[in-house]
Amino acid sequence: MKNIYDLTQRELEEYFALNGDKKFKAVQVYEWLYKKRISKFDEMRNVSKLTIEQLKQDFTIKRIKIIDKREDTDVVKYLFNLDDNNKIEAVLMLHDYGNSLCISTQVGCNMGCHFCESGRLKKIRNLEAYEMVVQLLQVEEDLNLRISHIVLMGIGEPFDNYNNVIKFLEIVNNNKGIDIGSRHITISTCGLVPKIKQFADYDKQVNLAISLHAPNNEIRNKIMEINKAYPLEKLIPAIKEYIDKTNRRVTFEYIMLKDINDTRECAKELSELLRGINCYVNLIPYNETSHIEFRKSSKDTILAFYDELKKNQINVTIRREFGSKVKAACGQLRSNYKED
Ligand code: SAH
Repeated sequence: MKNIYDLTQRELEEYFALNGDKKFKAVQVYEWLYKKRISKFDEMRNVSKLTIEQLKQDFTIKRIKIIDKREDTDVVKYLFNLDDNNKIEAVLMLHDYGNSLCISTQVGCNMGCHFCESGRLKKIRNLEAYEMVVQLLQVEEDLNLRISHIVLMGIGEPFDNYNNVIKFLEIVNNNKGIDIGSRHITISTCGLVPKIKQFADYDKQVNLAISLHAPNNEIRNKIMEINKAYPLEKLIPAIKEYIDKTNRRVTFEYIMLKDINDTRECAKELSELLRGINCYVNLIPYNETSHIEFRKSSKDTILAFYDELKKNQINVTIRREFGSKVKAACGQLRSNYKED
């Protein structure tokens, strides 16, 4: 049976229309689900008994279970159990500008970035849209707070689960429901070029971040398998095309890996690569993982890299470090969850 949290407003309208019912019922149901946050169909007080019975026959209203929760300063990491017993993680970050939730999009990941923990488990399956939606509902309910920002930067490659991710965006952005503004949502990709092109035609102002991590193919090939399929001479033009079409600025994520991509030479090369592109670079201090061949760059190296980009008029920020104590930081989320 389908989960009701998997439906966009339009799909719910179509469902009611098919049953010879009025469209406005969809909005009513949506408000019960997402504004009043009921957890049983019977709690929808202004909806007729008949409709409720019909909904019960056609849909479940099940959320996924929180099975573990770890806290650090300004961060809470959640472990969820899915109906088929697969596990995924989500991370809440408390920023001064609001509460941001980092959501997983797949069980495991096939992108094979050498430095990332999440890819240790190969992709088992895509998450359904409702499994992304309920990550948010459960965290909000658990902490009794509202989430203002979403980043699709948890386990998985969002563009390898394109249709479900778009559906998820439709659901969380809907102002009859959860109503998170598209400018408060960021989708991150390691660089699936055909999907970047497709996303350029998507009509919402969702932010796009690209995990770049290298200034040239030689380095990128060594650390990211995806670069063999979509090297920089394909990736960069696709991003330029995206910016031209959407008029939006993109973010380049760049993790600082000691002696691999963090030299002043690399910073110069990166500045050249990005010259004239409407973007900013987010330098990410590497969070050390079980991939022992990768170490974090020192603070001084990161600052020198930052200065070089600035000198070359590239917009750049250094990402604040979050949650490394509870292994909630970027690249530390794992699907093959074990007690540690
Ligand atoms: N697959 C998508 C979404 C994951 S986003 C993508 O690659 O963009 C997670 C971000 O954290 C990516 O930029 C990823 O490259 C980065 N990352 C992975 N491992 C990391 C680590 N150990 N330390 C810091 N960042 C890491």
